[in-house]
Amino acid sequence: MKKVCIIYTGGTIGMVATDNGFAPAPGYFEGQLQNIRDLGSPHMPSWDFIEFDPLLDSSNMNYRQWNLIAETIEEKYDDYDGFVILHGTDTMAYSAAALSFMLEGLDKPVVFTGSQIPLCELRSDAMDNLVTSLIIAGQGRAREVCLYFGGQLLRGNRAIKASADGLIAFDSPNYPALAKAGIDIEYNGQALMEPADRNAAANGGNFHVVRVRDSRIGVIKIFPGINFGIFEPLFTEDLDAVVLETFGTGNIPDYDRCLIPLMEKAIRSGTIVCVCTQCSQGTVRLGAYETSSTLAKAGAVSGYNMTTEAAIGKLYYLFSLGLDKDQISRAMEEDLRGELG
Ligand code: ASP
Repeated sequence: MKKVCIIYTGGTIGMVATDNGFAPAPGYFEGQLQNIRDLGSPHMPSWDFIEFDPLLDSSNMNYRQWNLIAETIEEKYDDYDGFVILHGTDTMAYSAAALSFMLEGLDKPVVFTGSQIPLCELRSDAMDNLVTSLIIAGQGRAREVCLYFGGQLLRGNRAIKASADGLIAFDSPNYPALAKAGIDIEYNGQALMEPADRNAAANGGNFHVVRVRDSRIGVIKIFPGINFGIFEPLFTEDLDAVVLETFGTGNIPDYDRCLIPLMEKAIRSGTIVCVCTQCSQGTVRLGAYETSSTLAKAGAVSGYNMTTEAAIGKLYYLFSLGLDKDQISRAMEEDLRGELG
């Protein structure tokens, strides 16, 4: 029988109603799981349950919890066939993306899931998300960090939370679903990560964890009329990286002649400037228009079709490897875990 480890970090799935709205309740959720008939079925993998303390609304997640999740997987790696991470939906795509980089040489499923409605409430989507994630983790076909929600298995570093209240809350606009769960769970063999990709990602073979350190990363969403001058105080030598969410294929307004000198100065002083697009589909092509060629000349790197979530996770990971600035810039433009291209 396959064995799966459930790591419960918090999120709506296990929350209960309080006077201040839904909140996690320590020690409560595992008991609820014992009552779910499907989870005791002989057709299910066997499972163990680890509860984090404190349980978090995922708005409070940060790099420390990413390290905790990674360390827990590392500690239990040989004991289980797969892992299910129960996580709040709000920042699940960020955590899944970050973990996809941190778990080097991963060769087992790590499936993030959660729900929009708590398990204890009417019409909850928790049951299918949990049961199907456990089955996927036990099956061992998707041996990468992925996210299961609302009938779709997505690559973790391609996912975005696309709906604040829909039950199909996640989307993967630039990469096909790894599997669809209808009557059967149908995997898309061509979309799954190949063993060769996994080995390339391993940096010398076996599974190991890269712990991430705190990094100073900013995200600026460009909008018509943006006044770049107000961002100037942010661009100190302490700023490790900034992700620019630009228009279309990487374009920025050039009317105030302020942004480019600001970027040039930041890049000279060691800040990585990564250009992503506000469009959920398609890719950045620096230099396709005059309004983006200046960014390329200033030394900005292209995020191609990476999500902002993936760019942030990747930056944390690369800063934690102790690489120099040129190595980080190059790696940002390379496909490390199927996150771009
Ligand atoms: N605020 C919750 C969280 O992210 C939302 C959810 O889980 O759906 O923890």
